[in-house]
Amino acid sequence: MRIQFWGVRGSIPAPGPETNRYGGNTSCVSVRTAADALIILDMGTGLMHLGNSLLATGFGQGEGEATILLSHAHWDHIQGLGFFAPVFIPGNRFVLRGHGKSSSMLEGILEGQMNPNFSPLYTLRNLGATFDVRAVVPGEPFEAAGVRVTAQPNPHGSTTALAFRLEEAGRAVVYAPDAGYPDAGPSAEVLALYRGADVLVHDTTYTPADQATRRNRGFSSYEQAAAAAIAAGVRRLVTFHYDQDYADADVDALRDACRAYLDGHGGADIELIAAAEGMQLDV
Ligand SMILES: [Zn+2]
Repeated sequence: MRIQFWGVRGSIPAPGPETNRYGGNTSCVSVRTAADALIILDMGTGLMHLGNSLLATGFGQGEGEATILLSHAHWDHIQGLGFFAPVFIPGNRFVLRGHGKSSSMLEGILEGQMNPNFSPLYTLRNLGATFDVRAVVPGEPFEAAGVRVTAQPNPHGSTTALAFRLEEAGRAVVYAPDAGYPDAGPSAEVLALYRGADVLVHDTTYTPADQATRRNRGFSSYEQAAAAAIAAGVRRLVTFHYDQDYADADVDALRDACRAYLDGHGGADIELIAAAEGMQLDV
């Protein structure tokens, strides 16, 4: 699997000279499978740039197909949809699997952001591409583009956000954004989802000091991310979903502090990578 990061910021886009290196777009990650099928993790504003890059492929001729895995429907995970060029080209097909009590409720949530008060698009049905929207059942594996996918919910403020495990040819990638754990840490089900992953892309919105004063927002500090990575025995931890107020130098400091925490708590063998827009990882 080849992972590429298109948006690594949390909550709201944060473009500007102070965030140029890590990037200001919100959550969007693509995964290319061994057969070159496309899986998209979340639809933050980074999705716009992924979409533009896809126009040179079959998506530009209406022959594209992709699976979109949606962790939850907060703005920073859905706002790229209306600016994702392939959705305006008839013939492109998307299967969207995400968070919702039912498929129709999930579709209703996505339609809600296209309400005329918010958007000129009005409805998913005005888009040229077709969408097959289905709610995920936590813990029940399903197949997407030849990859085995399992999801589990993490607490996230007043709601939950799905974490996804993608498995292909004995390799596992886990994507875990927006995780607001209780003091006891991740649930047993979530730890099992992370277990032994080759790559764990994990919410590291905050420093521990900032997290302590904003617990109700439902995000992780780098310490909580590192502790989860150590407990689950993952090979690589990728920091992700940085607070909108953190400049590049703040993210550098967060990464260095996370490295020190891993080294001091039994995680010296875990490779640490700070996600940045445009970065690719092969798994
Ligand atoms: Zn978020």
